[in-house]
Amino acid sequence: MVAPRYLGIELAPADVGGYLADLGEAPSWLRKISLHHTWAPDEYQWTGRRSLEGIVRYWNGELGWTRYPQLVIAPVPGDVELDWRVFVVQDPREWGIGVRGRNRDSLHIEHVLNGDKRAMPAACVRASAFVVEALRAWSGVPVEWCDPHVDAARGLFFHRDRRDAGKTCPGTRVSHDAVLAAYHAEHEPEEEPMPIDVVHDQAAIDAAQAKLIAAGLLTRPHPGSEAASVGLLMILCARLLDQVGLGVDLEQYELRLVKKP
Ligand SMILES: [Zn+2]
Repeated sequence: MVAPRYLGIELAPADVGGYLADLGEAPSWLRKISLHHTWAPDEYQWTGRRSLEGIVRYWNGELGWTRYPQLVIAPVPGDVELDWRVFVVQDPREWGIGVRGRNRDSLHIEHVLNGDKRAMPAACVRASAFVVEALRAWSGVPVEWCDPHVDAARGLFFHRDRRDAGKTCPGTRVSHDAVLAAYHAEHEPEEEPMPIDVVHDQAAIDAAQAKLIAAGLLTRPHPGSEAASVGLLMILCARLLDQVGLGVDLEQYELRLVKKP
């Protein structure tokens, strides 16, 4: 079998989903996703494509690999706190290399990071969240931990979760809880902010607003424009009704007050 070739395609994290969808169906071998760190070069030593090609030469020459971890997540040099990118190192439809005993059913993600020294920067874990979510949408691999010793298990794992790993990947400072919480937080729909959160000049609070704030019905001053006042009135009504255990039910095109269970 011919080994997959080096691709080196650079993507914004948000574009990984579209890239995978364009490849067509996910391969049937893909059941797990393994997470790694490069250790060296770390996120501050990384120079971009030149570093990537250096790593690939190391993988080919020193380690004798003819396959690669499929994806590398790396900072834009000098922008470690803000901007991370995704490199497609080899075709994700081909099995790669990264975890002894788990290469034929796992896709491998390298994070350019020394995770023994520092946890993943927020921008790194956010990029990673885009990637695992894109892989979930493409292949169905759930964004949950799995046991990497169980062949049939589907999900994510840290390289170090394998008993024979001999590695700390993705670093001792990187915890399962923190990573999964960040992955899930990135993809939960944000709540619509209440219009009441408009910042307003403190001096403009009139006596009535001060009373509403004291009564706990209003959390901060509200601007007095007509449109804003209609919104404010609706919010106050809903909060007042809620306080006396009532809600509004739309039935037969009529507003009707109902007792809340
Ligand atoms: Zn590893």
